Amino acid sequence: MADGLNMNRQLLVSTLINYAGRNHGATEIISTDSSGNTFRSNWSLIAERSQRLSSALASEGVKQGDRVGTIAWNDYRHLEAYYGICGMGAVLHTINPRLHDSQIAYIINHAEDQVVLIDPDFLEVAERIAHLVPSVRLWVVLGDEAPKSSVAVKYVCYETWIDEKREVLIWPELDEWAAATLCYTSGTTGNPKGVSQSHRAIVLQSWATCTGDGHNVNSGQSILLAVPMFHVNGWAIPFAAAMAGAKLVLPGANLDAGALVEHIRSEEVTFSAGVPTIWLSVVQYLERTGRDVPSLKQIAVGGSAAPSSLIDILEDKYGVSVSHVWGMTEMTQGSAGRFTHRVERLEREEQRKRQSMAGREIYGVELSLIDSEGQEVDRDGQTPGELLARGPWVAGSYFRHDDDSTHLESGDGSWLRTGDVATINDEGYITIVDRAKDVIKSGGEWISSIDLENAAIAAPSVTEAAVIGLPHDRWGERPLLLVVLHNEAELSQEEILDVMKPQVPSWWLPNDIVAIDQIPHTGTGKIDKKVLRTQFADHSWSAAI
Ligand code: ADP
Repeated sequence: MADGLNMNRQLLVSTLINYAGRNHGATEIISTDSSGNTFRSNWSLIAERSQRLSSALASEGVKQGDRVGTIAWNDYRHLEAYYGICGMGAVLHTINPRLHDSQIAYIINHAEDQVVLIDPDFLEVAERIAHLVPSVRLWVVLGDEAPKSSVAVKYVCYETWIDEKREVLIWPELDEWAAATLCYTSGTTGNPKGVSQSHRAIVLQSWATCTGDGHNVNSGQSILLAVPMFHVNGWAIPFAAAMAGAKLVLPGANLDAGALVEHIRSEEVTFSAGVPTIWLSVVQYLERTGRDVPSLKQIAVGGSAAPSSLIDILEDKYGVSVSHVWGMTEMTQGSAGRFTHRVERLEREEQRKRQSMAGREIYGVELSLIDSEGQEVDRDGQTPGELLARGPWVAGSYFRHDDDSTHLESGDGSWLRTGDVATINDEGYITIVDRAKDVIKSGGEWISSIDLENAAIAAPSVTEAAVIGLPHDRWGERPLLLVVLHNEAELSQEEILDVMKPQVPSWWLPNDIVAIDQIPHTGTGKIDKKVLRTQFADHSWSAAI
């Protein structure tokens, strides 16, 4: 070994839970089950029970590198699965239960999961797909009892299984480059693609999540995890919370605004993270009921663009400091929006402008913009380009996927093509213009569907907005705005356009506005534009504004 260098200690997921169990053992992990019952665990119990889970998995023949699936809500047993599976060197494969049966079967087969841990709420899914997923030899029911096994499906009850008397497995010293987790993108852009994070990547991104400019996860926080643990590893917060020894509140199946506000108030939650729709419903609930959330100091919002009107009311009325972040399955958190010392001292209006953007680079995820010729685009906040990313926790490739178009090899190394079109300004703030496939090309110029949606949602009659591009004889494509209206509201195109006009260039304004009952969402809560494009494929511009 070279003179005077550091020790060679591997960065492993097991070190996170070992640390939390040893130093923050009594810090609480609070879960709510589907019947609304609360269960209070703590880091010490999670550490002990996850080790027993490892032992049970080993007795079932699960080995290092084998994939183990979970189909579960945010609760303490799922948290034990995070650590029990990774700790023994198997790969935690979180599965999104909101996907269609055929997609769930596709990803289980692709991952070749051997065992699946499943919440009792989803047993019907197991019954329906078991015959399609031959690699799964055991379904572990995350509860106090399990149904009788049949020829097609073999069940065991989690509690009995991890309680059986067998030697507790001492977690091995793995190679930090071994795979720890596997997460599939939701397939908004084709078949789901698997992203595997190594132990090293999980530990490094957890560190980033704990920094003040990341999500500021620390032992002083009580964290409400409003991001599903089956989506992008719950934004790495279940790992970062152990690294920090933070208190965790896991809301289970019920993500209704009223339930979330109840958790915030009863557990004195100081930080939470979630997608904009969650926070929109929380704000609507607070406005309707006159309640408040005095303990809540910070939130991170991302996953889709957060409307400025949402950020303003959280900051100005409820005193919650908002970090608007951008990220994706391929890297978890890719940016953060905390104010710098200078921005903290600017006028509120100047701060608002910055918060409407999707944050700035955090150390560890390097970003770049290129044009269609592959040339780097200026960071002028104006010129859009394809957003590229690289870094120690950015996906270097996809699991069992041979398609080199997902990455770009340049003179200075390999970059992930994010599929997002963005601008970056001279302060480093990113604005996501659109997913490359959603951007509207009108007369050779780009229109951002995201900006139009955010502009429309500021209209008092509108609760949700979606914009798609449809073919147009003269301009190639023009925007169609679809809105869901508040209960009693009637559609007034004029009212909506008047609100939008000061916010976007006049030639971006939609050619038509249609009120619909409901906007379709993908399994991860994003607007499903594929469905809307099909639904409105025959829309005629004759009624155009
Ligand atoms: P998928 O929906 O394919 O499963 P992810 O859940 O990983 O993918 O979502 C990643 C995508 O979400 C990004 O590529 C980007 O398009 C969008 N996104 C994430 N954060 C933001 C944000 N703050 N503003 C706009 N878009 C965002």
